[in-house]
Amino acid sequence: MTNPWRAAGALRGCIRRMYDAIVVGGGPAGSTCARTLVRAGAKVAVLDRAQFPRVKLCAGWLSPMFWDVIGISPGSYPRGLWEWNTCHVKFGGEQFTVPGKGWFIRRVELDDWLLQQSGAEIHLGVNVKEIVQRDGVWHVGGLQAKHLVGAGGTHCPVARMLQPPRPRRAVGVQELELPADPVEVARTRLGNDGEPELVLFDDISGYGWNVPKRDWLNVGCGTLDATRVRDMWLHTRDVIRPHLPREAEDAIEHVKGHSYFLFDPAHLDGAYREGAYLVGDSLGLAHPITAEGIVPATLSGRLAAESILDGGDYRKRLREHEMLADYRRVFRLVEAGRRLRKNRPASTKPKKPPGKLTRRAVARGFAWMFSGARLPAPRVIDAVMEVARVR
Ligand SMILES: Cc1cc2nc3c(=O)[nH]c(=O)nc-3n(C[C@H](O)[C@H](O)[C@H](O)COP(=O)(O)OP(=O)(O)OC[C@H]3O[C@@H](n4cnc5c(N)ncnc54)[C@H](O)[C@@H]3O)c2cc1C
Repeated sequence: MTNPWRAAGALRGCIRRMYDAIVVGGGPAGSTCARTLVRAGAKVAVLDRAQFPRVKLCAGWLSPMFWDVIGISPGSYPRGLWEWNTCHVKFGGEQFTVPGKGWFIRRVELDDWLLQQSGAEIHLGVNVKEIVQRDGVWHVGGLQAKHLVGAGGTHCPVARMLQPPRPRRAVGVQELELPADPVEVARTRLGNDGEPELVLFDDISGYGWNVPKRDWLNVGCGTLDATRVRDMWLHTRDVIRPHLPREAEDAIEHVKGHSYFLFDPAHLDGAYREGAYLVGDSLGLAHPITAEGIVPATLSGRLAAESILDGGDYRKRLREHEMLADYRRVFRLVEAGRRLRKNRPASTKPKKPPGKLTRRAVARGFAWMFSGARLPAPRVIDAVMEVARVR
């Protein structure tokens, strides 16, 4: 059977600068969207203001779902990959060792590889500022297309135009990735290669990390309240400093900052308008607790492409996807906890710190989430949240 997207492509080829889709942003969301479209025969241009390979602040945690979303096995990924099966969590003054499963990558490598794999026409060094829609056609950077995909991260120009709902503020993050002597890394890390160290803050408002990648170290922290991120970084630094190589001593004073939006079901309302789609950080899809954003970025990129190809409802696809349904449940649980704390009657007694069993359960649950495992008993959670009327 003739592929309608390929047949139409021959005609469009005659009209210079006319594409099926223009993707603004070549990170994991944009490149996965482009790759899915190109594989179906669409003509796609990806525009990015950076030159690739480019540095992207990110610890590089990948949960197992990533490989399903992009359709390759970990063994076929040709760049640096570190598997972890144990996670060390410091919480409430104690260290917990928790089993789990996942991988680490370096973003400078992953994003470059994903973009090369997309097969799209790539326009680098193009800072998109002006976007115009005329007679149902998008005009961006001298190119034209019927479909426009906003994949430009937190400050995406397409998101500025679509203005998705933002009920909450963005989280604040500080981070640094530095090369380190592999022998030094081996001597100073807590476990075998790839075993991450997490510092969960006592009020559970965020966490810090030390992620060893054989000859690279990635350290940083993130907080729900962006105004506290600097103080929390200083706390993280003091906890992890004894395990770091000497050569990292000066470097860790120079962490860099960024902010992005965690998943909120309200964001999905603004995912699509008149041929324009938002994917990844431009929509705000990172996990509500771990802040893992690569998997939802690639997933939303793929779902947006599938909606362009078959004319399906992108927002519905996002809402009905089982992984994002779990994100919604986690969001509701976090909301319920927040409400409980807010409605608790004020007490004059000093607050009791959580007991050992509670601390262990929190630390285990937290580390377990980085494995990207599905939530147990989702229907029970849904029923309880309905009764508690948490959105
Ligand atoms: C410090 C830190 C640590 C993190 N750690 C993890 C982690 O360990 N695991 C994880 O899963 N997630 C992590 N995240 C989140 C993750 O990095 C993001 O969720 C993910 O990068 C989103 O991918 P994206 O493709 O939507 O956006 P991005 O990766 O940000 O890509 C957006 C692209 O758009 C381009 N762009 C922006 N504006 C324009 C413009 N005007 N014109 C043209 N191009 C433009 C940018 O150059 C960029 O290449 C972390 C984030 C931070 C800040």
